Amino acid sequence: MSGKTAYKTFKGGIHPPYNKELARESAITPCPVPAEVLIPLTQHIGAPNEPLVAAGDRVEVGQKIGGSEAFVSAPVHSSVAGTVKGIKEITGFTGAKVKVVAITPDAEQPDFAKQPGKDVDSYSDEEVRAIAREAGLVGMGGAAFPTHVKLAPPKDKPVDMVIINACECEPFLTCDHRLMLERPTDLVHGLKLLLKAVGARKGIIGVEANKMDAVEAVRAAAQGETDITVEILDVKYPEGAEKMLIFALTRRKVPPGKLPSEVGCVVQNVGTAVALYEAASWGKPLYERVITVSGPGIKEPGNLLVRIGTPMSALIDACGGLQGEPGKVIMGGPMTGWAQPDTATPVVKGTSGVLAFTADLIDVADEHECVRCGKCIDACPMFLQPNFIVQAVKKELWDKAEMWGAMDCFECGCCSFTCPAYIPHVTYVREAKADIAALKKR
Ligand code: SF4
Ligand code: SF4
Repeated sequence: MSGKTAYKTFKGGIHPPYNKELARESAITPCPVPAEVLIPLTQHIGAPNEPLVAAGDRVEVGQKIGGSEAFVSAPVHSSVAGTVKGIKEITGFTGAKVKVVAITPDAEQPDFAKQPGKDVDSYSDEEVRAIAREAGLVGMGGAAFPTHVKLAPPKDKPVDMVIINACECEPFLTCDHRLMLERPTDLVHGLKLLLKAVGARKGIIGVEANKMDAVEAVRAAAQGETDITVEILDVKYPEGAEKMLIFALTRRKVPPGKLPSEVGCVVQNVGTAVALYEAASWGKPLYERVITVSGPGIKEPGNLLVRIGTPMSALIDACGGLQGEPGKVIMGGPMTGWAQPDTATPVVKGTSGVLAFTADLIDVADEHECVRCGKCIDACPMFLQPNFIVQAVKKELWDKAEMWGAMDCFECGCCSFTCPAYIPHVTYVREAKADIAALKKR
């Protein structure tokens, strides 16, 4: 016996330096309202929204400004009271062009006018789904899948369990940790609404072992809730990936290409559960969120409550600005986030972090030939063969790339992290996915 406590986990994964201490102790504070917000009309996976406002219109905080009749979609709302300047096209955080509503905020911003909702226990399943949709809720861990769609699994796939992904396994990020410490009761209420929506009897909040204060806070908030437990997971990346989390907590395996409902589960992020509580209790749509601003390139790392559409530069300024020679700014976590060439890019519903790194910390080593060490295979939580996928892509053998599992890769980056040859596997996988999909369309 090593004496080390064995927490729930999965096979594979990596242990990058976590650097959570930079922002962990920083309580959530509001980010100042910028001179202009650029609110992307579509911030979800699914059908695009159409604008519901035009240049010159007055808008209030929480007013719906974009929507679609399609089922797989989520409306967007104004994050400020102000005047619409117009609809324009900008480069979004993924590098693709996106349509945004540009709004000049009023000098004074009124508080959101809370409308009293019902007690969380008295909502019906349909009502919860309708609230989630109307509030524009999406997965706030990054994937931005519309919440009401996740809460309507196929009739032949009954869901008996809702899991709150409270792992926050990416280095530097602490926004979910702070939400659990500062608003544990709202999280529990959000989970009760989620259980109601899918008719499940068991709710699990899965937290990594490096947040024991959050475990205590949420356990205290959930006392007396017989359907809800708080479970502790190993500190390992990507413990919070949906399939890994479900397996670690339940030993249920989601088959390749299938959704969690296949094994009776629905997984939601901490921020999404809290936002659902706000929508049901106060009528508040998702127009702001907590974002971690951190990294060695930030003077005073912290956790900010930010209005959607605020440029990254305003978040950085609110945290004392940049320090050292600028190297890289990332939207999201360091493992799955997107490097940004311009800090004017606005934050969206799925933005969990804004990270800055100094030039000396940026690894610019060139890619070498594979030395067949097998480290990428050991690290892959999906049990794929990342080295073989890369070889197949290099030879444009798309059927082979698919055979080695390119389409099952969820781009966690564990393989690249461990590779001594600095091979950017995820870049190759993305190329393979695009080409395989294009070939199948023919
Ligand atoms: S192949 Fe995909 S799933 Fe496997 S480690 Fe690499 S990025 Fe992660
Ligand atoms: S970790 Fe890199 S060098 Fe090692 S087998 Fe995988 S691709 Fe090759």
